[in-house]
Amino acid sequence: ILQTQKLDKWFGGLHVTDNVDFTVETGEVHCLIGPNGAGKSTFFRLVLGEHTSSAGAILYDGADITKEKPFERIRRGISVKFQVPGIFQALRVRQNLQIALQHHLVGASLDEEIDRLLEFLKLKDAEKQLAGALSHGQKQWLEIGMAIALKPKLLLLDEPTAGMTPDETFATGEMVQALNAEGVSVLAVEHDMAFVRQIAHKVTVLHFGKVFAQGSIDEIVADERVAAIYLGEVHA
Ligand code: ATP
Ligand code: MG
Repeated sequence: ILQTQKLDKWFGGLHVTDNVDFTVETGEVHCLIGPNGAGKSTFFRLVLGEHTSSAGAILYDGADITKEKPFERIRRGISVKFQVPGIFQALRVRQNLQIALQHHLVGASLDEEIDRLLEFLKLKDAEKQLAGALSHGQKQWLEIGMAIALKPKLLLLDEPTAGMTPDETFATGEMVQALNAEGVSVLAVEHDMAFVRQIAHKVTVLHFGKVFAQGSIDEIVADERVAAIYLGEVHA
């Protein structure tokens, strides 16, 4: 569903995305891992079009979207839950979801869809709470809710389980699996290896902006070269 070809991004003299050839197959759950500063979030912003690439191409369902604006890509079915919070902390949980949906649905169908989302996100009991008063885990679920409200075909999740308890992390994995069963392709940046094991069909390791390794979770955790980058023993 998504393919990048020789994708490059420079920030001044810093090569943050380095000649990246990367594919997310349709129907796949793909996890992107790598040390802090590897370029994972930058890659997401390139895919959504919030950063323009310095060189290379981005294809979505075979179409070249390299020069498209974010709204055009969102219309194609790409959606991102970013690492930095995007929910309205001063509004209630239900109102946040209403904002995500209100340009697309009205009246009873809007209420029904919000109820369906609240149920899916395990936030039914919290619907009247202010978003800012939620636990870390609940905030992440609301963030995911904002990203899936318009039923994307490709969902990008940047550290969806950050700040979650193990139980919340596992429940998030089940949400991802349920979305995937409905046909959503997923690319998730994640540090929690138990979570990666729970959801990933395939894992890619990014290091200094380059694809460093790729394989199943078992192949990746057994790879001594991957262990070495986390110990800071492999340099650019
Ligand atoms: P983390 O695991 O900490 O979230 P990451 O893999 O998501 O890290 P990025 O946020 O993509 O890493 O950052 C990659 C590199 O690019 C870092 O060195 C960062 O300081 C730099 N960088 C990110 N955004 C910008 C920007 N807008 N301008 C300049 N440099 C940037
Ligand atoms: Mg990041």
